[in-house]
Amino acid sequence: MHSTTRAIRTRVGQTNEMEHTTPLFLTSSFCFDTAEEMRAAFADETNDNIYSRFSNPNVQEFTDKVVALEGAEAGYATASGMSAVFGSFMALLKKGDHLLSCRALFGSTHNIITKYLSRFGIEYSYVDASANIEEWKKAIRPNTKMIYVESPTNPGLEILDLKPLADLSRQHNIIFNVDNCFATPIGQLPIGSGADLVVHSATKWLDGQGRVLGGVVVGKKELINDIYLFCRNTGPALSPFNAWILSKSLETLEVRMERHASNALWIAEQLQTHSKIRSLKYPFLASHPQYEIAKKQMLNGGGIFCFELKGGLEAGRKFLDSLQLLSMTANLGDTRSIATHPASTTHAKLSEEERQSVAISPGLIRISVGLEHREDILKDILQAFENV
Ligand SMILES: *Cc1c(COP(=O)(O)O)cnc(C)c1O
Repeated sequence: MHSTTRAIRTRVGQTNEMEHTTPLFLTSSFCFDTAEEMRAAFADETNDNIYSRFSNPNVQEFTDKVVALEGAEAGYATASGMSAVFGSFMALLKKGDHLLSCRALFGSTHNIITKYLSRFGIEYSYVDASANIEEWKKAIRPNTKMIYVESPTNPGLEILDLKPLADLSRQHNIIFNVDNCFATPIGQLPIGSGADLVVHSATKWLDGQGRVLGGVVVGKKELINDIYLFCRNTGPALSPFNAWILSKSLETLEVRMERHASNALWIAEQLQTHSKIRSLKYPFLASHPQYEIAKKQMLNGGGIFCFELKGGLEAGRKFLDSLQLLSMTANLGDTRSIATHPASTTHAKLSEEERQSVAISPGLIRISVGLEHREDILKDILQAFENV
């Protein structure tokens, strides 16, 4: 069976009510018939549910679907994307270890690495997204334990070649951890390129409808088991309600992502030569600097494109104020198209130099393309261009 079929058909066992859709298991704990069964569950001799901080049927169903879609061995779902990222660091890194990461990262991930890891005696260093494999190799230290990247990066949409990074990691016995939030498993399969772990913010495309927070880590069984043990004790458990929502969302992920990607490609093509913009980036446009890598490693270009307005910071703000259809909100990966201006919002605290090093120019606009009719999305962007 195809992974999408398996994901759609994965479900918690039917109850005596013979329901077609999985019910919601809103329960904090689970019962046992005998003291012996309870003892065996606590001794890890059985897989029985004990307590929803450890496991829950709805959470397991959602996790199993992501495992199927990503081609992973196992997974663990968390309350948000950030707890998935943090759990994957804290469960696997210890005092004296070194984390090597791509510099262009989701803001909170950058904060975890830069501000908090050192408190636990974990070293870090960054490599530019545009670095070649030799530069990555040079950045490896004897104590490097994990390489962490996002591709495409947020919001600059730089593409990293995952296969050589996976090979390098394997040669040096380093865990290769990839945030696959932007591409989703419909657009890119990092485990197929050799990644050991894949993390997701399920809040974005996996839900795809802007409703709930969630996160998930999938990958090698023994690594996931360490992450599970860390999370089961520290408590970033995914709510069963959110898991129930997210599990249903995954059943439409493929059709949604195909439309998000075809909308994004078409709109990006119409806009790329517009006189108000200096440049436009979309992974599946030949003008993208890493187009060849994108074509090799991605199955579609994803739902996000970005462009740089000629007028810089002020033009970016005017553009947002002129939009009539697109939403001005911090999320991405929704049925409704969203525009953001990183330099005045998510990345406003960085210095000009720091922004440049992660491909954020003053006039950069990121568009998360929704499922509205592509002509209406394009029309709104074009009319907003009139005012900048
Ligand atoms: C949003 C996001 C995260 C964090 O996810 P939350 O669900 O908001 O905690 C991590 N990585 C990327 C690339 C994201 O876009």
